[in-house]
Amino acid sequence: MPVPKAELHLHIEGTLEPELAFALAERNGVPLPCADTAALREAYRFSDLQSFLDLYYGLMAVLRTADDFTELADAYLARAAEQGVRHAEIFFDPQAHIARGVPMGVVVEGLGAALDRAEERHGVSTRLIMCFLRDEPAASAMATLEAAKPYLGRITGVGLDSAEVGHPPVTFREVYEEAARLGLRRVAHAGEEGPPEYVREALDVLGVERVDHGLRCLEDPSLVERLVRERVPLTLCPLSNVRLRAVDVLEAHPLRTMLDAGLVATVNSDDPAYFGGYAGDNFDAVRAALGLGPEELRTLARNSFLASFLEDDEGRRERYLAEVEAYEFGAAGA
Ligand SMILES: [Zn+2]
Repeated sequence: MPVPKAELHLHIEGTLEPELAFALAERNGVPLPCADTAALREAYRFSDLQSFLDLYYGLMAVLRTADDFTELADAYLARAAEQGVRHAEIFFDPQAHIARGVPMGVVVEGLGAALDRAEERHGVSTRLIMCFLRDEPAASAMATLEAAKPYLGRITGVGLDSAEVGHPPVTFREVYEEAARLGLRRVAHAGEEGPPEYVREALDVLGVERVDHGLRCLEDPSLVERLVRERVPLTLCPLSNVRLRAVDVLEAHPLRTMLDAGLVATVNSDDPAYFGGYAGDNFDAVRAALGLGPEELRTLARNSFLASFLEDDEGRRERYLAEVEAYEFGAAGA
């Protein structure tokens, strides 16, 4: 069994495998741009960010009903559990669905039905994090937060995703202030493609407790020093970074540098159906490419639980951390 871990950076829409896409397309009468699953799997080998985003948003059209979202989340949880994920904090993008006529309630109730039985079926505890699309106006994000108010019992926090450059965190100051007022936890993508200043802004203006990606913090030593001092976790996604060309090859990934600097780094899958692997696959890939040893892998697993939003269930966090400390690393399979 792989090392127990929490997954903290996972877009549920990015877990749509070709087989499920075809099944849902048929059920809902939605045409797909490819003839069969083999052709679709081939299309998943996109070459750049724009071709990824075109495919990603195009395929969302197959998600229509609450049951579709339940199936999507259940399939992810089954795969994640196989790879040692014991706790998952799952992102979803309501604006991408509302824009296609699928209301907030359908999305949240559908995902929620899968999350409600995740522990029993897969042994995975869960939280839900609602992300705003940063390339849409702040007013749209605010309207989305408003639409989520009847469902806040199911939503732990808010995040910020999609195309980063040219869309600085400060644009969403009021939305995050309102989210804080509603008692929601706050995270944001920053420093994936955007500059270190976006990471500072996410911390200072949006009040985020965790930075998604944060890779480019390394360009600013004083920012690194602050992230270390304040123990701000970074949710890294190594295979995603290679596919979207944030790093050239996995061997050049700065994960080890970040661990050595004392950053609270975690390893996650981002959009696993599209980027070549789930959480355990990402652990295995960095282990092989960077030559990480058992204690570095244990640190990554420990960090994932320390960085998770389990403040309302500290006993559970303690149990997970004890599992990490007791884990014996074998020759393969992290
Ligand atoms: Zn992401």
